[in-house]
Amino acid sequence: MRIKVEKEKCTGCHLCEMVCSLFHFKIINPSKSGIRILKDDLGTNLHHPLVCRQCQNMKCLGNEVLDETLEMAKFVWKKQRALECPFDGLNVFEEVAYHCNLCGGDPQCVSLCTTGAIAIET
Ligand code: SF4
Ligand code: SF4
Repeated sequence: MRIKVEKEKCTGCHLCEMVCSLFHFKIINPSKSGIRILKDDLGTNLHHPLVCRQCQNMKCLGNEVLDETLEMAKFVWKKQRALECPFDGLNVFEEVAYHCNLCGGDPQCVSLCTTGAIAIET
């Protein structure tokens, strides 16, 4: 499972960021979200949801040798992995990276996104 993004449908409401931090930390703080919305002010003017693609080939891990399934289940990752990810899929704040772990199988952001900019793909 992964979260599929259609940026053309994103309104930039940021509800996905808010519910993500609420679910994982019991606070509303978009900086502590695994999904983030960037606006392309100098180009298309579109809002672009960025989130982990749940890759089978996890380039974000670099040379780390560990259980990838266990890592995928974690929400807080080391900051270094954000630099290794070629898809800008991790959000960095306060020296750690926030990684979408699909909320354990029921991504909270998807059910809040009324326009369908983010959707579950299996
Ligand atoms: S909830 Fe949907 S429309 Fe709102 S910012 Fe997130 S992806 Fe965009
Ligand atoms: S962090 Fe990046 S490289 Fe790693 S699984 Fe997610 S999208 Fe793929």
